[in-house]
Amino acid sequence: MKIAIIGGGISGLALGYLLKEASPDADIAIYEELRRPGGKIWTERHDGFLLEGGVNGFLNNRPKTLELAAALNLAPLKSSDKARKRYVYSRGKLNLIPEGVLDFFTSDLLSIGGRLRIILETIAPRSSSDDETLSEFATRRLGRDAYETLIDPMASGIYAGDSTRLSLKSCFPKIYNLEAKYGSLIVGMLKMKMAARKTGRTVSAGPGGVLTSFQDGMGALIDALAARLGSAIVNNRRVIAVEKTANKYQIHFKDAQTEEADIVVLSTPAHAAKDILSGLDKNLSRQLAEIPYPYVTVVSMAFKREAVRGGFDGFGFLIPFKEGRRILGTLCDSSTFPGRAPEGYLLFRTMLGGARAGAIASLDDEKIIDTVFSELSDIIKVKGTPEMVKIFRHEKAIPQYNKGHAALLGAINESLKAHDGLYLHGNSYKGISVNDCIEQSYSLANSLSSSIMGKHRL
Ligand SMILES: Cc1cc2nc3c(=O)[nH]c(=O)nc-3n(C[C@H](O)[C@H](O)[C@H](O)COP(=O)(O)OP(=O)(O)OC[C@H]3O[C@@H](n4cnc5c(N)ncnc54)[C@H](O)[C@@H]3O)c2cc1C
Repeated sequence: MKIAIIGGGISGLALGYLLKEASPDADIAIYEELRRPGGKIWTERHDGFLLEGGVNGFLNNRPKTLELAAALNLAPLKSSDKARKRYVYSRGKLNLIPEGVLDFFTSDLLSIGGRLRIILETIAPRSSSDDETLSEFATRRLGRDAYETLIDPMASGIYAGDSTRLSLKSCFPKIYNLEAKYGSLIVGMLKMKMAARKTGRTVSAGPGGVLTSFQDGMGALIDALAARLGSAIVNNRRVIAVEKTANKYQIHFKDAQTEEADIVVLSTPAHAAKDILSGLDKNLSRQLAEIPYPYVTVVSMAFKREAVRGGFDGFGFLIPFKEGRRILGTLCDSSTFPGRAPEGYLLFRTMLGGARAGAIASLDDEKIIDTVFSELSDIIKVKGTPEMVKIFRHEKAIPQYNKGHAALLGAINESLKAHDGLYLHGNSYKGISVNDCIEQSYSLANSLSSSIMGKHRL
């Protein structure tokens, strides 16, 4: 029995590794179109700087990623305490995001009216719709000021998304469930905290956890998986179509070659799966095309410490859309993880583009650099010229779970019922983070190993 995994990002690699661990003799091939595996995870070194081309880290509150790292003998590296300081750019300046309730109500991040409106969250009405956008939900429960200043930048920080289109239920299921269970986020959090105090656990409505990576960056995870998988990974192997003949799948490659497989797992983004499946199932292909991917460009830019007035000592800052700036936000890699920049330098990583400003991400390199430099000059007062710049482009970056995503998944599942042995996997469907991808890989490896021909649904 041959299993073909198409796409060698973290989803495909983790799945391949777990299947090989469960059945070392299994006939598994991972076909990757690029010259390297890893997809959105890759790490580069330039002049003593350690740069992440895409993924920056993962939160350490989901056990499967740590379990995988331990199995690969990788020691997780927690972000430094300095990285607890997070800022939001509002009303022309950076504002520290308060951590405690008292700090929050005494900080001027929100207007007085905005702060008082949050108290009314406890009596805000429920929605009549089961699938609201993030903006509908946040305005209804927390008021306009909190939505625009706090919730909207969170959506662009995680999804590079448009909060007027992203689905609360699909993007932030914990928050959705909190309202469904308790009728109020504040009441729900208080009740959960009281219950947790008895057991010594910590609770959080948001993602929670501590941002974590590895000494050699996120690429270390890919290198370790690639070393274990060896020749099971076939790079430079672009799949253009999957078809069914009798009870086998035929995989067609760009170089006109074909391979047969009994089980095919598409661990590519949905936009690639859409093309690959267009001959097999037009309806399924059309459904996959409904998941949008905006253009995001990441710019790593380093300065001598003295070129940044007052230095910079936090995780970074996000920018609400209403501020009308040309970047989504900036992280300070050198204060987040040790060893990311030589002594005396600050390394920043700025995101541009996303669902509301994709055109900015597609500007040419010179304009991108000018844009980032002028925004950083204005916001954190950098001066002089950058000591190092590197641009990483993601033309189709992050799947957008817009309003209607849950219903779309239901329809995709229906279509999949016609294709025994065909699986959709990866961050396009039920969670975009590395943690989600790894959890889903464990779950799929489990169901493939225990009932190799059983049906796995999304
Ligand atoms: C800029 C950016 C920053 C991010 N930062 C974080 C972060 O800090 N933390 C976090 O948890 N998540 C982050 N994410 C989300 C991240 O993308 C996912 O968590 C995860 O890396 C997705 O892995 P994947 O394997 O599902 O998809 P991908 O990484 O997209 O891998 C899919 C693979 O399929 C291959 N492929 C596509 N088409 C074909 C084909 N026709 N034939 C063969 N191969 C094909 C691709 O080349 C690719 O290697 C970030 C995403 C972006 C874009």
